[in-house]
Formats: sequence, C-alpha cells, structure tokens
Amino acid sequence: PPLFRQRYLAVQQILLNQNWKSQIKKVIDFGCSELNFFKYLKHLYDVNEIICVDINEDILNDNLFKVHPLTVDYLKRRPNQLKVNVLVGNVAQPDARLLGTDAVIAIELIEHLYPDTLEALPYNIFHYIKPLLAIFTTPNYEFNSLFPNTEVFRNRDHKFEWTREQFQSWALNITTRFPNYTVQFDGVGPGPEGSESVGYCTQVAVFLKHSDEDEQLSEVPRSCREIITMAILNAD
Ligand code: SAM
Repeated sequence: PPLFRQRYLAVQQILLNQNWKSQIKKVIDFGCSELNFFKYLKHLYDVNEIICVDINEDILNDNLFKVHPLTVDYLKRRPNQLKVNVLVGNVAQPDARLLGTDAVIAIELIEHLYPDTLEALPYNIFHYIKPLLAIFTTPNYEFNSLFPNTEVFRNRDHKFEWTREQFQSWALNITTRFPNYTVQFDGVGPGPEGSESVGYCTQVAVFLKHSDEDEQLSEVPRSCREIITMAILNAD
C-alpha cells in the first residue's frame, strides 16, 4: 500500500493494542485535514466518540460528506452508537469539549506548525486533555537522502523536518515536563535493502500515560468552532 495508507494502518494498529484497546472510547484526530483517517477510526468498535479538528475550515467543509453514514453502515451496524464532531480549531488551544479524551492522534501535523504553536501544543495535550495515549507521526529527515530530488523538505508547507534524534529529543523533553507520560518510537515505510541506517520514511512517537493525578483544571474555554455534530449508527 502507499505510504499514507501504511501510516493510517500503523496508527490504527497502535489503537488496537490489547493493552489499551478497550479503554479507548473518545478519540481526537488533530490536523484531520481531508478527514481521511476517519474511515479507519470508525471501524474501531470500542470507540464511541470521534472529534476531528483542523484549523482549515474550507478543507473540513469540502470533506464533510466523509463523516456521514453510508448505506453499508445501516446494513452492518456497530455494537454501540458513535458520536462524531468536526471542529475548526487549533491543536495548541484548549477547548472544554476536548477533555475526557482517551487517545489523541496527530498524523503528519507537527511539521506544519510554526514555533509558537509547536511550543504551546504539549501544554494543551498533556496538561489539559491528558489522554491515555497520544500518537504523533512526522517525516524522518534522514530518509530524504533516498529521494532523487527533494528540494529542502518534502512539502512546501513544512516548517521543518526532523532527524530521528531531533524528533526523539522533542518527545523525551515532553516526558520530562509531564512525568506521568512515557514515550516509545516506531517507524513506517522502510527504505530499500541496504538503506536501513537512515531509518523509516515516517517516524512515530507513542506517548502513554501511567498515572492520573487529579489536579483540578480551572475553567477551560471553548476555542474551537463546531461545524457539524452527528450521532451515527445506533446499536439497533
Ligand atoms: N492528518 C492528515 C492525514 O493523515 O490525512 C494530514 C495532515 S495535513 C499534512 C496537515 C494539516 O494540519 C492541514 O490540514 C492543516 O490545515 C492542519 N493544521 C495546520 N496547523 C494546524 C493547527 N495549528 N491546528 C490544527 N490543525 C492544523
């Protein structure tokens, strides 16, 4: 399969890990873009709430049809009801509706962020939302040497692309600031034989929360704007 699909499948597999699968009920997909990962989330039957967030309202509106139920969804019903929300919002800004989330996903998002947003992101995710699981993917800069003509980065909108060391130090720094989290690294998309030393095309970080301190949050604002809420597919 093409790399983007390998990425979706890899993230889906992480969510399906037996260690936490049954605990993942509410999921946020930050930087959901064209709502393409939704299809993979929808097939996780333990999940009963999906919130898709992107800062680009036009992309969301153009792709909203992807969250509507399909005929096949009525024929093959889910065991539980699935509530879907699509919000225009910023990954770095807290929103009360995002609390109580079990898994946060950010596929190919961080490399699109300006420094101030990147700086604010961990606070929103690990201080406010505090999911059990947070999964980030981003390009591995070292792998670019295998592409014939990458100018500087793989995409014009990328603000940076990180080596494995840079990505890992970003992630490990988060676990130092938020010590109830640990992180593990993985990769998607191997290069041709003999190129193993550059690593995988996409790098993945999986943060796992180990304890719940019950520190009370002061009032959390609502920074996102709702485009659509829908409940799809009752059990019967
Ligand atoms: N996750 C998508 C997928 O797997 O199909 C691809 C993500 S796309 C490469 C990057 C997305 O991040 C864009 O849709 C962009 O609008 C969004 N984005 C950029 N800055 C953002 C921010 N501060 N908060 C939320 N989304 C943002």
